[in-house]
Amino acid sequence: MSIAKVDLHDALKKYFGFNKFKGLQEGVVKSILEGNHTFVIMPTGGGKSLCYQLPALMQEGTAIVVSPLIALMKNQVDAIRGLSNEDGIAHVLNSSLNKTEIKRVKEDITSGVTKLLYVAPESLTKEENVEFLRTVKISFMAIDEAHCISEWGHDFRPEYRNLRHIIGRIGDDIPIIGLTATATPKVQEDIIKNLGISGATTFKASFNRPNLFYEVRPKTKTVDVDIIRFIKQNEGKSGIVYCLSRKRVEELAQVLQVNGVKAVPYHAGLDAKTRSSHQDMFLMEDVDVVVATIAFGMGIDKPDVRFVIHHDIPKSIESYYQETGRAGRDGGEGHCLAYYAYKDIEKLEKFMSGKPVAEQEIGHALLQEVVAFAETSISRRKFILHYFGEEFDNETGEGGDMDDNVRNPKKKTEAKDNAKI
Ligand code: ADP
Ligand code: MG
Repeated sequence: MSIAKVDLHDALKKYFGFNKFKGLQEGVVKSILEGNHTFVIMPTGGGKSLCYQLPALMQEGTAIVVSPLIALMKNQVDAIRGLSNEDGIAHVLNSSLNKTEIKRVKEDITSGVTKLLYVAPESLTKEENVEFLRTVKISFMAIDEAHCISEWGHDFRPEYRNLRHIIGRIGDDIPIIGLTATATPKVQEDIIKNLGISGATTFKASFNRPNLFYEVRPKTKTVDVDIIRFIKQNEGKSGIVYCLSRKRVEELAQVLQVNGVKAVPYHAGLDAKTRSSHQDMFLMEDVDVVVATIAFGMGIDKPDVRFVIHHDIPKSIESYYQETGRAGRDGGEGHCLAYYAYKDIEKLEKFMSGKPVAEQEIGHALLQEVVAFAETSISRRKFILHYFGEEFDNETGEGGDMDDNVRNPKKKTEAKDNAKI
């Protein structure tokens, strides 16, 4: 199938009201319309959803979208329905539906009204669903958050391992689209292998965030004082402080409040009402700072977060990248400050000790990268991008001078690990 450029832009405008494709979207949409297996690697916020939604809307048949989070699926379905006056255009198929609802979904798919069907992997595996989907026209399968298939990803889900088999049962030659924001070469290989899409047309966006400044400071007993000083120097700006434990979150939030910083805690141990009220206070700028565990941030879209502080170092470079990535979404300033003590690495190692050996080994390997990152004297940006399989030249690349090691190079004697990259 060949689709002229102008048609794609018309379709983009018609369905989404956007004038331009973002980044690599246009190429991805074309590849999917041509029926290729396609692999899309773009950072969070890069616009991956549209990559499969637009071709789904333009094609005959139903596109099946596999996604791990029910809440996210519902959001997307609501958003798609909002673009159309046909409610049946998008559906979720999951175990919460009653018989009547399931019947409606199946009717809409059979009659060709439904362009996007969102399913959780465990629903897709159900025999009755496989039997049904075998009988209808499927345009393609999109596997969102495809890193869930890999033990090397930060969110391994065993159900994802079955997907290739199930897709094969639904149809022989269904194009498969994998999408992820995890860019490490290991995870990518795993995705390609497990989805069986070795010939996939691959699109990889750069993970460089030129407006973010990366800094690591040694963590000492006076870390709280240091954090207070930093926040005071950035008075009135929005920021997130990540801590490992709920207890530390509570303590630090109090210390900040006592010192006149408008701060609230956020962690999964707070009741839903408190959590959502604290989140709203941050979004509405009634407070400047949220002190949080990693429970905070998924789906938070505050564009002008000016700093992200890691009171405790994260357990992988990917987590660090995701969490710091919440700063400077608007393209403006974003200071990423992490405190590092080797003691904290040992703590993280200890947390893993109850886990299966294979998991421990992976966790250990990921942690060693964090150590290397924290202790490196080369450019932090270069390190992160290298980790994601990207070469970065600080002389010519955007944001090349935006980290502590480039701004204030350590003396040669300190630079133990210059040879690492
Ligand atoms: P990802 O899944 O890669 O994290 P999303 O698909 O959630 O990203 O998209 C992020 C944001 O970008 C959304 O608010 C979406 O509406 C917006 N967006 C996507 N494509 C475009 C475009 N072509 N023009 C303008 N905004 C876009
Ligand atoms: Mg997404």
